[in-house]
Amino acid sequence: MKDSIKRYLFNNDVVITVSRTRDLVEEARKLHNTYPTCTAVLGRTLTGAIMMGSTLNRKDMLLTLSLNGGGPAGTVLATANGNCEVKGYIDNPYVDIPARKDGKLDVGGALGKDGFITVTRDLGPGTEPYIGRTALVSGEIAEDLAMYFLRSEQHNTIVYLSVWVDIDTTVISAGGMIISPLPNCSEESLSYIESKVFDIGNYGMMLMSMDIPEIMQKIFGEKELELLDEGTPVYRCDCSVERFERGIISLGKKELQEIIDEDGKAEVVCRFCNKKYSFDKAHLIRLLNEAK
Ligand SMILES: [Zn+2]
Repeated sequence: MKDSIKRYLFNNDVVITVSRTRDLVEEARKLHNTYPTCTAVLGRTLTGAIMMGSTLNRKDMLLTLSLNGGGPAGTVLATANGNCEVKGYIDNPYVDIPARKDGKLDVGGALGKDGFITVTRDLGPGTEPYIGRTALVSGEIAEDLAMYFLRSEQHNTIVYLSVWVDIDTTVISAGGMIISPLPNCSEESLSYIESKVFDIGNYGMMLMSMDIPEIMQKIFGEKELELLDEGTPVYRCDCSVERFERGIISLGKKELQEIIDEDGKAEVVCRFCNKKYSFDKAHLIRLLNEAK
């Protein structure tokens, strides 16, 4: 079953965004070589970001989700664009902590909850980015995101994010669901969705054997579900030599001259895909001439 994002209108007054992100989270695991708990931390963040980003409608519009709770994982960050592409990183991918009592990976323990979740919406050239920030609740990411929606956007939202990691550390299942009642949503719809909370909590497990339309039918089947939009999410890093050249030029003449004198070369590693870019002396001198 392939990764996908689908947006439904439920009973004409609730928008439900659902995703299967197994392949892209597995891609992130391989790129960042994450330990299982960090696979879940990064995977949940990527899944949340790409579902939120899927409402943007242009490739140059970006949504960035960033969390730091003071835990051993450090900062986790994911950036999605309006074209269903996402990239991300986690400061420390090698956090090795025991699972929780219920057997689940201890995402909250790795991330910590003494800190903030920050959402940045960059709507393209010539616009000021919109930045919202709220305190973390649990470091489990879905709850934190729901609190962000409530506090920062005054929107009561149910967020569910899931990453299942196999014994061999590969990703077996990943996906999420964001349920957003529209303004003036009926009591009937709200109480119906509340009655389905248990089934929604099993969404991650259902992803292992069922496709999204089948799951939606199983959870919400008695009511009307209209498919509004769909896309294929992918992990994609857009780094390039030119981007890192601009970064080096922005260091300024003085610092760049010091690098040339002391090291005679530079190596930069992309945080999002771990690709290495090497700059030899001649290349750095050429960039020095462009620096201020
Ligand atoms: Zn990259």
